[in-house]
Amino acid sequence: MANQEDKFKKVVSHAKEYGYVFQSSEIYDGLSAVYDYAQNGVELKKNIREYWWKAMVQMNDNIVGLDAAIFMHPTTWKASGHVDAFNDPLIDNKDSKKRYRADVLIEDYVGKLDAKIEKEVAKAAKRFGESFDKTEFLATNTRVVGYKAKGEAILQRMGKSLEKEDLADVKLLIEELEIGCPLSGSKNWTDVKQFNLMFGTKLGASADTAMDLYLRPETAQGIFVNFLNVQKTGRMKIPFGIAQTGKAFRNEIVARQFIFRMREFEQMEMQFFVRPGTQKEWYEQWKENRLKWHLSLGMGEDNYRFHDHDKLAHYADAAADIEFRFPFGFKELEGIHSRTDFDLKAHEEHSGKKLQYFDPEINERYVPYVVETSIGLDRMFLAVFSNSLQEEALENGTTRTVLKLPAVLAPTKAAVLPLVKKDGLPEIAKKIVEDLKWDFNVAYDEKDAVGRRYRRQDANGTPFCITVDHDTLTDDSVTIRHRDTMEQQRVKISELKALIKEEVDVKNWLMKM
Ligand code: ATP
Repeated sequence: MANQEDKFKKVVSHAKEYGYVFQSSEIYDGLSAVYDYAQNGVELKKNIREYWWKAMVQMNDNIVGLDAAIFMHPTTWKASGHVDAFNDPLIDNKDSKKRYRADVLIEDYVGKLDAKIEKEVAKAAKRFGESFDKTEFLATNTRVVGYKAKGEAILQRMGKSLEKEDLADVKLLIEELEIGCPLSGSKNWTDVKQFNLMFGTKLGASADTAMDLYLRPETAQGIFVNFLNVQKTGRMKIPFGIAQTGKAFRNEIVARQFIFRMREFEQMEMQFFVRPGTQKEWYEQWKENRLKWHLSLGMGEDNYRFHDHDKLAHYADAAADIEFRFPFGFKELEGIHSRTDFDLKAHEEHSGKKLQYFDPEINERYVPYVVETSIGLDRMFLAVFSNSLQEEALENGTTRTVLKLPAVLAPTKAAVLPLVKKDGLPEIAKKIVEDLKWDFNVAYDEKDAVGRRYRRQDANGTPFCITVDHDTLTDDSVTIRHRDTMEQQRVKISELKALIKEEVDVKNWLMKM
């Protein structure tokens, strides 16, 4: 696929065409940065959530689940710092009247430097062929080293200025780098201002008794306020974790990247409570563990990298992102944060209730430290979906569009296709569907020539097609076609279930962690 922008457009249109993701309220021209998951999307999303939940909760006897409400007492957000500090630095372009996140403009500029480095690498790899040593090239090529140093210096300065709330310097940086409005090119900018991202709403019927609430901007606080309830009723011993998936809401300023940045989205978070002083080890361990989870899906080691934060949030003593190579470049997919005892202490202060743990091993009572892993379900969906969408040139000169979703996540595991719509073949095919559907999502398709049906299932991401033909009538066997290799194999109907299970079973995938 030609360039990044083209590829991204294809991702968005494929998601719509194949019933994965629709714009919210489309008949009313849509609602910006809000999306609906359609018949296939809802299955893929559910499978990703389950893959995470099993790895977190089912496979760890010291991690339990929680489903806290979206509405929380408003003091929660005072304590967490969101009322005072959950801001993004925004900047307006005076000519185009478009609004941007100042930090994103600068990060995109650095992203372009990264793209230049990749270009140099590709050029050199071509020139030197087999003898090309990428690591050495990255370390010694003057142009590459220059781009890298420039990028790092820019990010460091931005980090420092944001930390000091020196918004004038952030604007100065944009001006010095001569960053123009991505739409119009104009460099006529306003000052940088802070903008709070929380959505407010009201609880209660009458205007004077109504209580101001926020829609939660993260799921984590539901875990913190329940820390003691869960610890006591679950008789949990430190170290232990609480995991939760659920909706979060942010009034994002820049919301142009499909489901990458939404105003209503879903998070999968786990807060791990540890003894003070041990947080660094646990932080390293969770970084490693989460990367392994990603790699178990087989989407390519080269597509992930860690980004350690220079600028730390007010609650953190260490933080890193797992970045993924999206169609628009490497961007944050998941955050791992060492949150110290900031949250629990703040909730103690604001509620007047103790949120402490008595550690029998050292005979001490303390407020636990927290290491958090936080991933956006929708962002993970985009990572999986965009990485899986491929166009392949076939030997016969045609191309096929194939959605190579990891089989464990695919919405439909198999499609059953009678070769023709007569001679009793549909009946056998339907019987196979009836049997398999107890274990897997399966589809039945009898319309069009079988080649077209294969292509339809390829584009839909279905890992297996099962074809019933005239031989089936006598040998009780069918042809099973593998989506990725297009290989075909003759198997007994009775063997189908085991064969599919082998490929789609969560266990077989998570064992790769
Ligand atoms: P970003 O810098 O991209 O705004 P963030 O650092 O604010 O993200 P966190 O607060 O750490 O994000 O949230 C944890 C995870 O939640 C992110 O890694 C991302 O996957 C997801 N996430 C955050 N904001 C959004 C959003 N607006 N839409 C979709 N997913 C999101």
